[in-house]
Amino acid sequence: PNQNLAKFLVDSAAAYPDHTVLDFMGKEISYSSLLKSVYRFANALLRLGIRKGERVAIMLPNCPQGIIAYYGTLLAGGVVVMTNPLYVPREIEHQLTDAGVRMIITMDALVNRVNKAMEKHPLEYTIVTGMQDYLPFPKNLLYPIKAKKDGMSAKVIYSHKVLSFKKMIAQSSEEPCEVKINALEDIALIQYTGGTTGFAKGVMLTHMNLISNTIQAQLWFYKAKIGEESYLAALPFFHVFGLTVLLNQAIYIAGKLILLPRFEINQVLKTIDEQKPTIFPGAPTMYIAIINHAEVQKYDLSSIEICVSGAAPLPIEVQEKFESISGGKLIEGYGLTEASPVTHVNNIWEKRKSGSVGIPVPDTEARIVNALTGEELPLGEIGELVVRGPQVMKGYWNRPEDTAASLRDGWLFTGDLARMDEDGFFFILDRRKDLIIAGGYNIYPREVEEVLFEHPNVEEAVVAGIVDPYRGESVKAYIVLKKGCTTTEADLKSFCKERLAVYKVPKVYEFRETLPKTLVGKVLRRKLIDEEAEKLV
Ligand code: ATP
Repeated sequence: PNQNLAKFLVDSAAAYPDHTVLDFMGKEISYSSLLKSVYRFANALLRLGIRKGERVAIMLPNCPQGIIAYYGTLLAGGVVVMTNPLYVPREIEHQLTDAGVRMIITMDALVNRVNKAMEKHPLEYTIVTGMQDYLPFPKNLLYPIKAKKDGMSAKVIYSHKVLSFKKMIAQSSEEPCEVKINALEDIALIQYTGGTTGFAKGVMLTHMNLISNTIQAQLWFYKAKIGEESYLAALPFFHVFGLTVLLNQAIYIAGKLILLPRFEINQVLKTIDEQKPTIFPGAPTMYIAIINHAEVQKYDLSSIEICVSGAAPLPIEVQEKFESISGGKLIEGYGLTEASPVTHVNNIWEKRKSGSVGIPVPDTEARIVNALTGEELPLGEIGELVVRGPQVMKGYWNRPEDTAASLRDGWLFTGDLARMDEDGFFFILDRRKDLIIAGGYNIYPREVEEVLFEHPNVEEAVVAGIVDPYRGESVKAYIVLKKGCTTTEADLKSFCKERLAVYKVPKVYEFRETLPKTLVGKVLRRKLIDEEAEKLV
């Protein structure tokens, strides 16, 4: 019960000190060297007077500095608040003030944005890592940060103390240190939800929540070889999916992380070809980008053994095509920030079902219930998915009412509609909020999207309910066509009519170059719906 989440790193470094833990653009860092930097950072925080439970924000893309700051903060007893580096000042202000953050670790190109965001509530310390600090950042792979606009060269009057990350590390001691925690009670991370459905809430995850979920997910990869796997880290660590399934998981089994600061398709293919990762967790859009890349055949993807897709539905077409191109297994899992996040996965080596998110991970109970009454529904019926297990959050930060609504008797109400089949496999239909009700019929967006995906010229498709004066709602499809393809609305309509009951066939079609997405590649359906609403005003 006193185990710190950072113990995974301490243990792996003791067992495999010379193994490479990080590969950042060809530069390698060993386990022992990473742990030394982590102790240095933790000691520096303790010298700054960090108190147990104090919130420390980390606003960085995937890079060694972010990992040092993460484990260092945990060993110093702090609570990590992962902040998306693409946030604009309004979002930064909301998140950092909501979490009551006292210090932030970020990079030089982002400092002025943070400063502007926090004008009214200055932070005590801003710890800055330079683009060239520690390890050089390859400029072309950073997020598209507009240096000028962000004022890298502009003078700023800081209302808080600015410290150099590099100096902090250099001037600190590498003596082991660890603030005693209670893993069941103490929060390791306040993770803000994706915000796909609106206002982002802070999810409190304890050390034990994250330790449990790392082990639970690992048990599903029980053939993973300790000390031998290498992970392609393209998912961002500031989302809990990347944090657990990549960072914590890889460190737990003494694996190597090949860090990519952002998903850039050519770089991803080149990295797989040259660095030969064995495990590549991702979001469906990543696999979609790979299978549709014009020159994918030029790259050798055969090192990949296991891919786990989560965050959004994985179209069956995509799964099959990716497996045939790479030769690896692409399995689907499901989770949500409130559950650290993994609750369901298709077991890699046993039976799996396409279109299903699999069965609950070990030590996790799952039920399908009536969303209003909470009563369990008979087998096969569609209802709200509720889960219970050691990975389920402590609650929402400072939101007791939201916590009470989501956590009832230890069961987490996921807000997702699902069903379970006779073998205990779960199928996610959609979020409760995304269900389209047209003329009294329930339409699950996913079912319609799966059909659109089957069309050979469709690269991406998403459907949403739009206001319809007669039917309440009707179905609108947003389509991204594959390059060079010309498919008309009439073609798609007749394609859908052959495969769907007439009330499910989209009435309106809009062709787009791209779809609005979050950084983990989730389509922002809410944004599309809001755009429609604005048209009506
Ligand atoms: P917010 O809660 O702020 O709106 P969000 O729901 O995107 O944001 P996350 O915790 O990142 O926040 O996402 C969890 C949700 O992602 C799940 O509730 C579910 O709707 C969806 N999801 C995750 N995995 C899958 C999957 N395999 N298939 C379908 N949906 C999935």
